[in-house]
Amino acid sequence: MMECPECHSTHIRKNGKRRGKQNYICAECNRQFLDDYTVRGYSDEVKRDCLKMSVNGMGFRAIERVKGVHHTTVIHWLKQVGENLPDSYAPEQIPEVGELDELETFVGAKKTRSGSRQQ
Ligand SMILES: [Zn+2]
Repeated sequence: MMECPECHSTHIRKNGKRRGKQNYICAECNRQFLDDYTVRGYSDEVKRDCLKMSVNGMGFRAIERVKGVHHTTVIHWLKQVGENLPDSYAPEQIPEVGELDELETFVGAKKTRSGSRQQ
């Protein structure tokens, strides 16, 4: 089940913890990775965006359409977040995205990445 995101070897060893998450190292290519990355090759940023949308009431199918991340993956992430944290991830601290057109602006601006923290 555990698989290297780089070479897809299943020869994986535990390699301590990083910020409360299990860190792994691949015995074949020495690539280090956290538990999350085994789900798929998505970056933390994509994952965070998806979770943000979900927290703000967006449906999994809608997220799938917008982000191109399969809805079962998003659901998997949500479960992970629910189980593992909250340490580095606190939904209450995520800025509200609110209205749909605001969300579209948000998604459209993802390349430039507005320094997303709102008070
Ligand atoms: Zn590897």
